[in-house]
Amino acid sequence: MSIETQLEGKLPDILAAVTAACRVTRHVQGELERIRQHTKDDRSPVTVADYASQAIIAARLATFGEPLHLVGEEDAATLRDPDRAALREAVAETARVAWPEAGVDDVLDAIDRGNHDASADGYWTLDPIDGTKGFLRGGQYAVSLAYIAGGEVVFGVLGCPNLSADLARPFDAGDAHGSLFYALRGRGSWVVPADAPGTTPAAVQANGSDDITQMRVCESVEAAHSRLDDTARIVAHLGAAGTPARLDSQCKYAVVARGQADAYLRLPTRPGYVEKIWDHAAGKIVAEEAGVRVTDVHGRPLDFSHGAGLSANRGVVCAAAAFHPRLLEAIETLGLFPT
Ligand code: AMP
Ligand code: MG
Repeated sequence: MSIETQLEGKLPDILAAVTAACRVTRHVQGELERIRQHTKDDRSPVTVADYASQAIIAARLATFGEPLHLVGEEDAATLRDPDRAALREAVAETARVAWPEAGVDDVLDAIDRGNHDASADGYWTLDPIDGTKGFLRGGQYAVSLAYIAGGEVVFGVLGCPNLSADLARPFDAGDAHGSLFYALRGRGSWVVPADAPGTTPAAVQANGSDDITQMRVCESVEAAHSRLDDTARIVAHLGAAGTPARLDSQCKYAVVARGQADAYLRLPTRPGYVEKIWDHAAGKIVAEEAGVRVTDVHGRPLDFSHGAGLSANRGVVCAAAAFHPRLLEAIETLGLFPT
């Protein structure tokens, strides 16, 4: 049986796991101010939600009855520190929103199931909250889970609790339901409401236009994560007049996948930065299966065969098929990333 067919058989359980994690992150987002005031720490809500999200998903993947290989962004070392009892308790209490019977040790052990080193032929990778800054500002973030086999992404799920099905809704306005995207290699890209994964899925399709004058680009909010000034130069060079958008997290891949934007540019701000697999795996396959092209800034395919980092790549150019070659050309003509 192909790996795609095996994963397809588990699809309802996988989507339920990501939905459960989204429920937890949404719960914390509703309590942001209370938690901040209680802890006098601006970042503590995302820390708690991040650990709880990884615990929920790892615990559910572990029930699949096979050895679990999971490369998660988090581990429980900090939580096991004797001085962090309050944080540990807060994480466990939060995890109970979707895992009512969980004890503190269950939660810590589940988080540590995400400690695989990406050496197995097939493994999961998880970013329990991608776009922590977006989470904290009440904007976009994603629970991102993917499966990599033989160095290639074969499956991805992006839970986007604040991304509305209504394309007219501003990215910073949040949403009561959110969207959950998923894709299996060769089997298309699909979306359901993030709080109702059993709903009949709708096909996700990228924009098929080739009118570059209307191209809409999206990028990070954080200037440290992408060279925003160079995006503006590329857009001006190509004469693209579409309204640009800034949003956090892999929701950018989903926004291009569903034709709400035409391109997502991630232009490295410093030479040594290596992108993490959990920041791209799920987004890339959701976009590609919707007809989008994804490479690095030099046009190389993203290479998932080097462990937890995309060390053979620089940045990301994700764009509707007609625009992708034009963007690579512009990057080269402008001399933005000389080799
Ligand atoms: P975004 O929401 O698209 O701005 O990206 C969020 C992700 O950027 C986080 O998950 C980080 O892993 C990643 N990140 C952290 N530092 C950098 C950096 N210097 N360049 C690019 N990405 C980064
Ligand atoms: Mg991330």
